[in-house]
Amino acid sequence: MKITDVETIRFTYISNTERDSDGHGHPGPKREAAQTLLKISTDADVCGYWFGTNAEVIRGVVKPALIGEDPFMREKIWRDLNHRQRLNLGTLSDKVIMSVDLALWDLAGRALNQPVYKLLGGYRDKVPAYASTMCGDDLEGGLGTPEDYARFAEWCVKRGYPAFKLHTWQPPYKGAPSVKRDLEACTAVREAVGPDVPLMLDPYHYYDREAALALAKGLEKLNYYWMEEPMDEHSMSSYVWLCEQTHLPICGPETCEGKMYVRAEWIKAGACDISRCGVGDVGGLTPLMKTVHLCESFGVRCEIHGGGPGNLHALCAMSNGEFYERGLLHPFIDFDEPAPWLREHGEPMDDKGYVHIPQSPGLGMNINWDYIEKNKIDRG
Ligand code: MG
Repeated sequence: MKITDVETIRFTYISNTERDSDGHGHPGPKREAAQTLLKISTDADVCGYWFGTNAEVIRGVVKPALIGEDPFMREKIWRDLNHRQRLNLGTLSDKVIMSVDLALWDLAGRALNQPVYKLLGGYRDKVPAYASTMCGDDLEGGLGTPEDYARFAEWCVKRGYPAFKLHTWQPPYKGAPSVKRDLEACTAVREAVGPDVPLMLDPYHYYDREAALALAKGLEKLNYYWMEEPMDEHSMSSYVWLCEQTHLPICGPETCEGKMYVRAEWIKAGACDISRCGVGDVGGLTPLMKTVHLCESFGVRCEIHGGGPGNLHALCAMSNGEFYERGLLHPFIDFDEPAPWLREHGEPMDDKGYVHIPQSPGLGMNINWDYIEKNKIDRG
């Protein structure tokens, strides 16, 4: 089998979120936005798909590298793109490589008529989810106060989520960052859901060491399950310093570049208790599984960052990650509505809080082609 074409299809949809100046998403007025579908075609009449890529980089850098290649030679293709990153760092990001790798996994599953998690070596067909909130805001009845978080956590537990993670306030929101306010929100949530629900915190990412330690000490008392990224992850020494002084599990690195290599260094240095990565952080499912197995060899849990089909299939093919991150959630957003370009929800959750993996071939995305055709902007 040979790859014959690599295309992107851009189309519009109506979004109900907007980004703040730091890039964090919040509910917003309805607006038109664009989505890009990556399609990899072969001479065997089978294709692979992924939603979310950069059309220009696919055309300029990726397509010439893929035409004529065997789509089942994923390791070779991933290595080749990884090497091309060195002198294309400004454009060929880990997220673009992820889109290619996931479209190739989707293609393999469709060609072999199997869901991807079974190609990886299946471990389970459902995973418990945690409710992962958007960052704090100043919206009335949204996530503007510690009480808002408490009310929303109660709602999430009633919906079936077995665990809850707060993303608290970040600039540009007034009063942020604040260790005191973060701990007030964490306390309000603990009081609302009781002692038995696992709770996690992902706060402002640029606190200094003392602020991060103050947060950790507060969360120890509240019996939190883990904390993520309270400091810039490029300072691994700061995380070693933090881990040495708290028994709160520290989970990371998440956004730090360096794929599986940097995660190996963090484990070796004692900079984390739980490792962390998602398909978007390391450049696809191929390097994510390398990282998962690296962690397993050290007896370290790997909590998967973010949702979506790539991360869900990884979680159903591994034993050392506990939760699926479902979100980002907000009281004003109905997360159980499927994306407009899909015919059904890709991460359906039952009332016990389990996300069930689709059993259809590939990554299990039931694509609404009529919608894409009707809203198409261009094809390249
Ligand atoms: Mg995080």
